[in-house]
Amino acid sequence: MEQTLSIIKPDAVQKGVIGKIIDRFESNGLRIAAMKKVQLDEKTAGGFYAVHAERPFFGELVSFMTSGPVVVMVLEGENAMAKNRDLMGATNPKEAAAGTIRADFAESIDANAVHGSDSLENAAIEIKFFFSENEVL
Ligand code: GDP
Repeated sequence: MEQTLSIIKPDAVQKGVIGKIIDRFESNGLRIAAMKKVQLDEKTAGGFYAVHAERPFFGELVSFMTSGPVVVMVLEGENAMAKNRDLMGATNPKEAAAGTIRADFAESIDANAVHGSDSLENAAIEIKFFFSENEVL
């Protein structure tokens, strides 16, 4: 059993597709082990994306991620990290395979509906960033 972190980003929350996105996870064998809706502040969003701090789009990324509430989840299941990445589709929704979350719900490379941990190592770090042990059930 693996665990991975998923975030439904402000664009998808604003669109009212939280339920549709969660359905993709549950219909594909991923269980919601933890979940909360939060408004990220600049410090939290910047800390979460610290690995991208030197990238040219870092400012835009932080500004977008703080533009409205997000839903943060721990997904659990067999191959949860890779499975979630497959369900999400490519970073740029224009390149995302048909039927993926980003192809169906995202508009642009920054407003791209979801975040998902890209390695098991990062998943463990990201889960700890948002949840204490007794919140992951
Ligand atoms: P992910 O793992 O598929 O989310 O992609 P990355 O880890 O490479 O990038 C993290 C996030 O930064 C992406 O989900 C996008 O929201 C954002 N991002 C990546 N590349 C760009 C870009 O070229 N421009 C902008 N504005 N945002 C980007």
